[in-house]
Amino acid sequence: MRVGFFGGTFDPPHKGHLAVARAAADRFALDKVLMAPVGLQPLKQEHGPSASFEDRLQMVRLTAAHDVRLEASDVDAPLTGQKPNYTLDTLTLLHAMLGAETQLFAIIGADSFRQFARWHKPLQLLEKAEWIVAARPGEEFSSGWGALEADFPEAELAPVRHRIHFLTEPDQDISATQLRHELQRGVVSSEWLLPEVAAYIREQQLYRV
Ligand code: ATP
Repeated sequence: MRVGFFGGTFDPPHKGHLAVARAAADRFALDKVLMAPVGLQPLKQEHGPSASFEDRLQMVRLTAAHDVRLEASDVDAPLTGQKPNYTLDTLTLLHAMLGAETQLFAIIGADSFRQFARWHKPLQLLEKAEWIVAARPGEEFSSGWGALEADFPEAELAPVRHRIHFLTEPDQDISATQLRHELQRGVVSSEWLLPEVAAYIREQQLYRV
């Protein structure tokens, strides 16, 4: 089995996330993509998510229902004591859950890859999975590499270089931060939102100031 792990805040999930998950599944022949909202992202600790984990998971379920290969996952649910969720721990857990037969692919956007050198133990992360980096307008794939090259000697990078793959499609200019700003102003019918997610946000009155 070839399984993708697509973690994120998903606050809220949008059409850009759906397009990335589907494009990764198409291009890398993934049998399944787990879309996993994170309890607390280590690099976004000061401004935690706006919507609760349960609401974000429910919105991800509505998103995943658009493609049989996609599945919402609570593997990155909040930890006790407000501890951040480290991707290295999540990938270790997934390996244990899915078994040695499964090949794991972690999916991130190019903006996340730009910060990858700041993630907890980046070289070990590259050893744990194949990485699919999706294009995002205004983000250069090379800036992520540049930061890794500045932090690690080539002798350490060389063995893991081949584990990073770039996905140039779908390249959609959609951001959850911008969406939340719109929603706070009362604009709920954005073309960036899936209709089911927009309806859920309206019903649950999420993202209101
Ligand atoms: P924000 O704008 O608040 O940073 P976001 O839209 O990036 O939010 P996240 O939930 O943080 O949403 O994203 C989860 C993952 O999806 C991250 O790896 C992010 O880089 C990636 N991603 C999000 N939106 C896009 C997009 N439009 N194109 C490519 N990747 C994306």
